[in-house]
Amino acid sequence: MSWIENRFEEGLIVTSLDWAINWGRSSSIWPMTFGLACCAIEMMAVGASRFDIDRFGAGAFRASPRQSDLMIVAGTVTYKMASRLKRLYNQMAEPKYVMAMGACTVGGGPYFKHGYHVVKGVDLVVPVDVYIPGCPPRPEALLEGLMRLQDKIRSQTRKKSLMTKAKEAVLN
Ligand code: SF4
Repeated sequence: MSWIENRFEEGLIVTSLDWAINWGRSSSIWPMTFGLACCAIEMMAVGASRFDIDRFGAGAFRASPRQSDLMIVAGTVTYKMASRLKRLYNQMAEPKYVMAMGACTVGGGPYFKHGYHVVKGVDLVVPVDVYIPGCPPRPEALLEGLMRLQDKIRSQTRKKSLMTKAKEAVLN
C-alpha cells in the first residue's frame, strides 16, 4: 500500500475494522458453564492449570448465557434437555458460537442405536460451528477445536455476517 506509506508518524498502526473486531472477538471468547455428561470432565480439565485455556483468552467461563458467546455442548444431549439447550442458546448474545464436544453430542455416540432418549446430533437443535469427535475427546482436542473456531472468527467479515442475519430474518 504505497500510497499510505510514510504519511503517518512511526508507531501508528493502520488496520481494517474487520481485522480489529475479529482479533478482539477471537481473543476473548467467553464460554458458558454448561456440562451435560462425562465429556464435561475433560472440559473442566481444559480450564485447569495443566492445559490452561486462559492462554487462548477463553478461560472466563460464565454462569449466564447472556454473558457468553460460546456454548460448548459437552456430553449426552437427551430429548428432555434439548429444549433447555435451545432456550439457553436463544438467550446468548450475538455473535454466538457452538462447539459439539464428543461422540454423543456430534451424532448420538454409543447411544446412537438403542438410546431412544438421546438426540442424534446436537446440530438438530442448534447450529454447530466446530465438531470435536472422540469418546471423550482429550483436552488437547478441545483446544484444537477452539483454535479452529478462532480461525473461523478471524475469517468473518461484517458484510458477511450482516447478510447471514438478513437471510436468517427472512427464514424466521
Ligand atoms: S462421548 Fe463418551 S465421554 Fe462424552 S458424554 Fe458421550 S459417552 Fe460420555
